[in-house]
Amino acid sequence: MNIEAKITDWAGKLYQKQLEACTDKELYDVLLNVCKELIREKTPITGRKKVYYISAEFLIGKLLSNNLLNLGIYEEVDRVLSAKGKSLCAIEEAEPEPSLGNGGLGRLAACFLDSIATLGLCGDGIGLNYHFGLFKQVFEDKLQKARKNEWIEKQSWLTKTDVTYEVAFGNRKVTGRMYDIDVIGYDNGVNKLHLFDLETVDENLVKEGIAFDKDAIEKNLTLFLYPDDSDEAGNLLRIHQQYFMVSCAAQLILDEMKQKDYDLHALHEHVVIQINDTHPTMVIPELIRILTKQEGFSMAEAISVVSQTCAYTNHTILAEALEKWPLHYLERVVPQLVPTIKELDVRVRKQYPDPKVQLIDENRRVHMAHIDIHYGFSVNGVAAIHTEILKKTELNHFYKLYPYKFNNKTNGITFRRWLLSCNKELTKLLEETIGSGFKKDAKELQKLLSFQEDSRVLDAIAKIKKQKKEALAAYIAKHEGVELDPESIFDIQIKRMHEYKRQQMNALYIIHKYLEIKKGKKPMRPISFLFGAKAAPAYVIAQDIIHLLLVLQEIVNHDPDVAPFIKVVMVENYNVSYAEKLIPACDVSEQISLASKEASGTGNMKFMLNGAVTLGTADGANVEIRELVGDENIYIFGQDSDAVIRHYTDRDYVPGEYYEKNPMIKEAVDFIVSSKALSVGQEENLRRLYHELLNKDWFMTLLDLEDYIVTKDRMFADFEDREKWKKMSLINIAKAGFFSSDRTIRQYNEEIWKLS
Ligand SMILES: *Cc1c(COP(=O)(O)O)cnc(C)c1O
Repeated sequence: MNIEAKITDWAGKLYQKQLEACTDKELYDVLLNVCKELIREKTPITGRKKVYYISAEFLIGKLLSNNLLNLGIYEEVDRVLSAKGKSLCAIEEAEPEPSLGNGGLGRLAACFLDSIATLGLCGDGIGLNYHFGLFKQVFEDKLQKARKNEWIEKQSWLTKTDVTYEVAFGNRKVTGRMYDIDVIGYDNGVNKLHLFDLETVDENLVKEGIAFDKDAIEKNLTLFLYPDDSDEAGNLLRIHQQYFMVSCAAQLILDEMKQKDYDLHALHEHVVIQINDTHPTMVIPELIRILTKQEGFSMAEAISVVSQTCAYTNHTILAEALEKWPLHYLERVVPQLVPTIKELDVRVRKQYPDPKVQLIDENRRVHMAHIDIHYGFSVNGVAAIHTEILKKTELNHFYKLYPYKFNNKTNGITFRRWLLSCNKELTKLLEETIGSGFKKDAKELQKLLSFQEDSRVLDAIAKIKKQKKEALAAYIAKHEGVELDPESIFDIQIKRMHEYKRQQMNALYIIHKYLEIKKGKKPMRPISFLFGAKAAPAYVIAQDIIHLLLVLQEIVNHDPDVAPFIKVVMVENYNVSYAEKLIPACDVSEQISLASKEASGTGNMKFMLNGAVTLGTADGANVEIRELVGDENIYIFGQDSDAVIRHYTDRDYVPGEYYEKNPMIKEAVDFIVSSKALSVGQEENLRRLYHELLNKDWFMTLLDLEDYIVTKDRMFADFEDREKWKKMSLINIAKAGFFSSDRTIRQYNEEIWKLS
């Protein structure tokens, strides 16, 4: 049956309608079923060794567009629907975005699944099926409010399987059921994302906002991703979730081994488990527990096999983000696992007396990363500088013990979503200019370099940028009620709200510009400052920064002296779908974390690929972007990671000194608690943020503010040299090939997984 017949057929089956009569939402359901049917006809990817990528988050984004693309039927479906007066773009809008992730770490997991399947490697993802996922963000009174994010509909990419596992929390037993989402390789076979869910989960537990009874584990376990952990019940719930995930994972992995008749003693020859950050760490003691208690392994045998199977990816050097569970929490939630953890700890103590490398510290907290490092065979960082910092400082004690375990895998992004799908115009231009080889081999984007003096190509890229800015401006006018001028510079910072990412520094720049304009110093061209970010509900200062940005949005956009020159917009509920609209429209990519703190960043790669120029610190993958494009095609400012690390060791950073020394800084910081700001915003939030910046400023905003302002002004001036800017844009696109997640996954496979 051809595609048109299949679509017609499903429209009849589901809605007893002709295509023409279906709504966009109904057509989305129809296309979903067409895809699922085509996927069933495709061959699953197999192999003698398989990778299981376990992650608390999979930020997969909407799936229709990418699945059509990877199935190779996007254009045909588009043609069929157009002929019936329907728009595939409008239909894509009708899909709810799965809410299974938070930020870069979850998006990375999603890009990796796409690349694993595209390279034809045998590998599945394993995670949880959160019904309300990460909260949905709404703004009320210029404050972030959290709402439940209902994303699962009757017609869904999720397929219920008949695989179920019992999971014990001490004497309490629950049943986990596996749901699958197909992962289709680009012009290749199919893998799975396995999402475990609790049979007894009760959505009615959630009443107002996102508050719910955290103790009712049987009903709440798979409701939310990252439930508020500011109290004990929240911490216990997170441990329940983590154990539920890895217990189901361990049972599935061992079942698949048995189904294939493999000897469990050869687990490491057939299985590799990639542990994405520390959330899935308990899979290590859990596998050891099962092998010793149920499969007749000795402890030494089990440890040996499991240690050769598990590999750990570190995503952060922020101490507060490295999980350390109090032992008595583990004793309450998973008492059956504690003897194994203690046994693993005893073995470490016998071999290594250094207190810094123990699993259980003197405060009886279990360091999850330490389990991964001692009892896994690989530890990788996610960008060159990040891995070096791990080796030199944060994990130096471990590096000395196991230098051979440490390796770098610089992150990547899937070009299917972040170029082919979100920027079809640029993709078409690239095909016309350098052929279509880059779609399979991203390095071929370099061919574009020979067009850096070709005004036809340079103008065509600029024209597409303009189109994308117009489309974004229209979307933002509709959804946020803010009018942006597509002729203005689009300066964009979109990422989780966190002090180390320093959205507050960007806010201080906007204040500085605002005050300059008020004094009569106008920018050469209007500038639009765009933000998108969710803040963890218990992270007070992050909420305050959101508040400040919304206050600035109101002040700036409504001031007749200023609004013609600058605009501010903080978009509501930033997510993957929004990113796909924002990134192609960006001129200036803000990557301004405090050097040493952003492990890699992947937003920076998406922007570069779409022709934006980076304004950033020498942090994470910015460092590698700089090496690729050269200093002339990127704007790097601020103190480097060595200097920052020295400030922390010497404890010599005093924000007040920068405030007193530089009137420009003082003026900008003072504005936060000016009568103007207080007349629009909440005194409590603004004062708290002001005091934080002046007296603590743990992530050293004021340290780099002056250089940031100077560099950003220079960048905006360079924007007026249109020929220079267009060339920078082209070079950024041409050099982005390195950041394809296909390259990253090839390296994981060659150096860690060794699947084939
Ligand atoms: C890529 C992406 C991120 C990660 O952004 P960073 O700038 O690397 O922190 C976060 N959220 C979404 C929706 C993304 O697509």
